[in-house]
Amino acid sequence: MNAQAPIKLIDGKAAAARVLAEVAEEVREMKAGGVAPALAVVLVGHDPASQVYVRNKVLRAEECGIRSLEHKLPASTAEADLLALIRGLNADSGVNGILVQLPLPAHIDETRVLQAIDPLKDVDGFHAENVGGLSQGREVLTPCTPAGCLRLLQDTCGDLSGQHAVVIGRSNIVGKPMAALLLKAHCSVTVVHSKSANLRELCRQADIVIAAVGRPRLVDADWLKPGAVVIDVGINRIEEDGRAKLVGDVDFDSALTRAAAITPVPGGVGPMTIAFLMKNTLAAARLQHPAPSTPAQFPEAPCPSIS
Ligand code: NDP
Repeated sequence: MNAQAPIKLIDGKAAAARVLAEVAEEVREMKAGGVAPALAVVLVGHDPASQVYVRNKVLRAEECGIRSLEHKLPASTAEADLLALIRGLNADSGVNGILVQLPLPAHIDETRVLQAIDPLKDVDGFHAENVGGLSQGREVLTPCTPAGCLRLLQDTCGDLSGQHAVVIGRSNIVGKPMAALLLKAHCSVTVVHSKSANLRELCRQADIVIAAVGRPRLVDADWLKPGAVVIDVGINRIEEDGRAKLVGDVDFDSALTRAAAITPVPGGVGPMTIAFLMKNTLAAARLQHPAPSTPAQFPEAPCPSIS
């Protein structure tokens, strides 16, 4: 983007409202055709942040006309019981999407649980079938946060072909799927992490910087090329001037002096994550109920249900 242009604040709330309106419209059409999309949300334990996330997801689902089915289990729930619940949800034709809120209590194997979800109902996009499909460039259910970031970038920059993107962070939830989506959008992608050398220099070469680190205000103006577009995924709770605050992985005020466009925290990526969860629930419902005259949306990825 042009370094001389005024800085653009990327408004995630407004973008999310547009996505949710699209979803609500499509849900209405689906219901008229006899299919009422439903999302099962499973929460194990009483982690306060997870409880807030689940409440927000349920509220957004209701706003879109998606039925939500909450399963709240005690922290002491045995892994076998959680797996049995997931098998039941897989088999239930009235459930289109299954979300297991992370983190799970330490005695439960997260990978085993995520792998137990039917890939066609895996609205978080964490099942290996979907992870593999994404890395092959197939149309599959894709992790919500990176999918939301990609939409923000496309809304801001248009075609991303040929842009150099640096993704800071290599987690399975954000960094890796983000890199796969940017590659699919024809970017040149560099992924950096805690063991990378010359982090700042690598970042300074980027047209697009995605920060998904979990370190408050790590990235400042000195890390940015003039005119870079910055997506800040980080959500960090800090104490400052005697009060609790939410800040990102980017030093927002400093980055404003260099960036062409930037997401705020809060109000940037966060709302898009939930909006894309709703989009994925709709996509899952379509996969399970393709219109008779049209092929399933992701025809090359038929996945057997895990029982
Ligand atoms: P993880 O802790 O799983 O991954 C963090 C990544 O950052 C790792 O790859 C780690 O490297 C890397 N890293 C850590 N420190 C540094 C450093 N000093 N320099 C460079 N790289 C570093 O976090 P997540 O990916 O799950 O989340 C990242 C952030 O995004 C968090 O703040 C989280 O709260 C937020 N988040 C926000 C969401 C939203 O909806 N807005 C959704 C999901 C997450 P290594 O692999 O070498 O350890």
